Amino acid sequence: MKVRVRYAPSPTGYLHIGGARSALFNYLYAKKYDGTFVFRSEDTDIERNIEGGEESQYNDLKWLGIIPDESPFEMNPKYAPYRQSERLDLYRQYAMQLLEEGKAYYCFCSEEEVERRKQEQLDNGVKAPKYDGKCRNLTKEEISENLKKGLKPCIRIKLDPKDIFEFDDLVRGKMKFSSSDLGGDFVIMKSNGYPTYNFAVVIDDHLMDISHVFRGEEHLSNTPKQLAVYKAFNWEAPKFGHMTIIVNKDGKKLSKRDLNVLQFMSQYRNKGYLPEAIFNYLLLLGWNGKDNKEIYSKEEAIEAFDEKNLSLAPSMFDQDRMNWINSCYIKSLDDEHYLAFIKPFLFKVLDKDAYSDDELLKIANMFKEELLFGEMIVPKLERIYKPTYNLSLEEVEFLNLDTNPTLYKTIIEKIQSLDHLDKENIQQLFAETRKELSLKGKSFFMPLRLKLTGSHEGIELYNIFILLGKEEIIKRLS
Ligand code: GLU
Repeated sequence: MKVRVRYAPSPTGYLHIGGARSALFNYLYAKKYDGTFVFRSEDTDIERNIEGGEESQYNDLKWLGIIPDESPFEMNPKYAPYRQSERLDLYRQYAMQLLEEGKAYYCFCSEEEVERRKQEQLDNGVKAPKYDGKCRNLTKEEISENLKKGLKPCIRIKLDPKDIFEFDDLVRGKMKFSSSDLGGDFVIMKSNGYPTYNFAVVIDDHLMDISHVFRGEEHLSNTPKQLAVYKAFNWEAPKFGHMTIIVNKDGKKLSKRDLNVLQFMSQYRNKGYLPEAIFNYLLLLGWNGKDNKEIYSKEEAIEAFDEKNLSLAPSMFDQDRMNWINSCYIKSLDDEHYLAFIKPFLFKVLDKDAYSDDELLKIANMFKEELLFGEMIVPKLERIYKPTYNLSLEEVEFLNLDTNPTLYKTIIEKIQSLDHLDKENIQQLFAETRKELSLKGKSFFMPLRLKLTGSHEGIELYNIFILLGKEEIIKRLS
């Protein structure tokens, strides 16, 4: 069987970690088995769609290297169109088929009525209220009378309460659901002529020859409903794999409002994360490789991927681990790519026209080893180029050491005689000064750091000297 998988976002928001992870695993599965990865837009929830949602999700996926083979932008005529909003006739046609075969029926109950009757069931002690099937057996005459009155019906599927839906979940193993637990005959076409998710998804997955579906655990309860639709049409269902939820450090389901973790790809891009690093991290979020290996290139990921290793335990989103992985990728960039990546962040502090690329690279390289993400360079540069001197009490103590005036004076004198500054001559200058003044560790470098940058943190002291240059050092120490 040819492997065809899909990522099918609703463009009601931007690409989020959870969606990106689903897309990644479908993509890996396709690439592993020489299959096709489809991007389909499930855009029938018109009220919740956001402007540009589909395109930004698509572009973010491509940025991550999760590249669709087919999508609204690269259609295979055999399966087009790739937006549900352009497939409405198909859904109607298939719904009509079920109506004609007596496997579905028009329902004229209003939403309020249905809710009211469910409430009555609850009041009578029923634990899981269902649609009561009121319109299941309307006569032809009753139906045409209602239609003539201008009532707009929805269409419900007829469930056989004796049905049991079983499937082998690719992640969780054997799953079993009873048709009687699905809340009664559910709506497949709404009264506004739009399909419901559980109906459209089946029509599309079937017509697009989708063979496997990896999606989030939140869809597990939808699967038996979808299997009921497959059964009504006598179609074979794809294989399903439901990935575990993503939780935060406290073990709670990650909420889009959780501000402690970055959740949208746009946030990652703006903060200076590398797409390869996110790809790598998403892989670890729900999949266990061998030998605790953590760094995977895309090719290695495809090679190593095995759906049997999709994890069953909730995946904990760990921002620190993500940062660490990103730092590994930053360190491995060559000069050209590093400069291109870091430039926008450099220019948040440095004047665009004042530096050549060589100078920018020299500056940026001083920070490369300590960056977890690109934006981290901004406060580090600010300390050097635009210090603010918000000092802690301890820092103030260091600035008030009795030995400081002589220290600054000695440095100023010595630096005058250097015609340029480099690592060697600065370190020599430090060594001589310390020896002459008998200054140990902190009492030497803390006052200098604080006086020069307003902070005890930062890159190597000799690099601070190189960046500031002779004149500026003399000015700040005076
Ligand atoms: N449009 C659905 C969603 O965004 C897709 C679910 C599925 O993969 O079947 O959640």
